[in-house]
Amino acid sequence: MPFQAGKIVKQYTNGYVSNRVLKMNVGFLLTAGSGHTHNTVFDVPQVRVAEDVDLAYVRGPLRLSRTKEGILVQGELHVGIEDECYRCLSPVLRDMTIDVEELYAYPSSRASEFSIDDDAILDIAPLVRAETIIADARGVLCRPDCKGLCPNCGANLNLGPCDCQEEIDPRLAKLKELLKK
Ligand SMILES: [Zn+2]
Ligand SMILES: [Zn+2]
Repeated sequence: MPFQAGKIVKQYTNGYVSNRVLKMNVGFLLTAGSGHTHNTVFDVPQVRVAEDVDLAYVRGPLRLSRTKEGILVQGELHVGIEDECYRCLSPVLRDMTIDVEELYAYPSSRASEFSIDDDAILDIAPLVRAETIIADARGVLCRPDCKGLCPNCGANLNLGPCDCQEEIDPRLAKLKELLKK
């Protein structure tokens, strides 16, 4: 079995499991030789992908194909990113699809971004981390019409108007006075 589900993995205090669940032993495929493929399905809840990336889940099918250069990893992974709205900072669970198509070089080579060492472990954590960080940089809204936070008192305006909305900008107040005349 390349993907050892049910293996006891380290559990962090926040409930996240170690990224060991994203490592597969592909020794059987390396020895099988070019042209062999293996299909697997990830379904991992709450995982610490890296020091700086926690995901609510990683799931989806992956196809591993042995080639002369190593193992080609193809698939479609869905990851749950625990993000926050960039306007109101409320937590947002963001579902993202990662279309994966990467060659993991074997034997490992410096020319390749991803590779498999002599221990025959194929680790998709660095790949998932890289894609997650790219997606995260784009920012997300909790809803398309998020009203954000009041720049004055910091209240979340999605929950209703804050007290300072009654206060009018002094320049506008002056204008109002003029209009009255
Ligand atoms: Zn928001
Ligand atoms: Zn306010």
